[in-house]
Amino acid sequence: MVENQEKNIVNKVVIVTGGSRGIGAEIVKQMARLGYTVILNYNNSENCAKNVENELKNEGITVDIFKADVSKKEEAVNLIQFALNKYEKIDVLVNNAGISQTKLFTEITDEDWQRMMDNNLNSAFYCTREAVKNMVHNKQGLIINISSIWGITGGSLEVHYSTAKAGLIGFTKALAKELGPSNIRVNAIAPGIIDTDMNKEYSKKEKEDIKEEIPLGKIGTSKNIAKCVAWLIEDDYTTGEVISINGGWHM
Ligand code: NAP
Repeated sequence: MVENQEKNIVNKVVIVTGGSRGIGAEIVKQMARLGYTVILNYNNSENCAKNVENELKNEGITVDIFKADVSKKEEAVNLIQFALNKYEKIDVLVNNAGISQTKLFTEITDEDWQRMMDNNLNSAFYCTREAVKNMVHNKQGLIINISSIWGITGGSLEVHYSTAKAGLIGFTKALAKELGPSNIRVNAIAPGIIDTDMNKEYSKKEKEDIKEEIPLGKIGTSKNIAKCVAWLIEDDYTTGEVISINGGWHM
């Protein structure tokens, strides 16, 4: 075991894919502040990843940052191997990396479809398959898949996104059954609308209209999702669940 692991044997190792911006960045910050050993994965946004790293460094907290396009099997495997080489274990994998696209169904190209599956669904498969080998060996672990409200209800003009996010829900439930006996929990979080770059194309008026449909009357924040991740890490009896955090937009 490396030095900081020897100092704190209860320290959990948490990997967050897509940790450079939005929900993933907030999960990284909150888990690091809670004292977990966090590996921030990014792909294109190196500056954003470094900003998160520096923000935490100013608080006296160190995180690892690792570039990998997790939609590609080899790079996803590299990410998991980086964690194992450095810490010899993975306790929590948060499959958060994802992309969205709004398009009429008939205009979705083969490339759009494949890109959506690769980034939102296959990425989780590649990372999880590699990480789970170590978790099974250790007889403990937690996988958290960031799905979406559209994976439950379906979203108009987002058939490919909804399909990938629904796939993550099936993946979560099946894997929870298979890995429960190895003391590995698998859960999904299905956010409603969260204030991140992913929704920057909505106009002010569109956001106001959406808020009116939400019983709690507001758009969610990345902190709402990070708090749920923290709770799932602390818990030891929730598995196969899809926790929908959406202000009551869908019940
Ligand atoms: P965001 O602000 O657009 O951030 C997306 C993050 O994913 C970035 O850090 C990006 O990294 C990373 N990413 C995308 N493809 C990647 C890849 N192939 N490899 C590594 N990293 C990759 O989006 P967000 O709102 O935080 O979304 C995070 C997750 O929540 C996604 O899975 C999204 O589908 C889900 N979600 C979001 C909402 C919402 O309303 N915001 C609602 C439901 C579900 P780089 O920039 O470094 O490439």
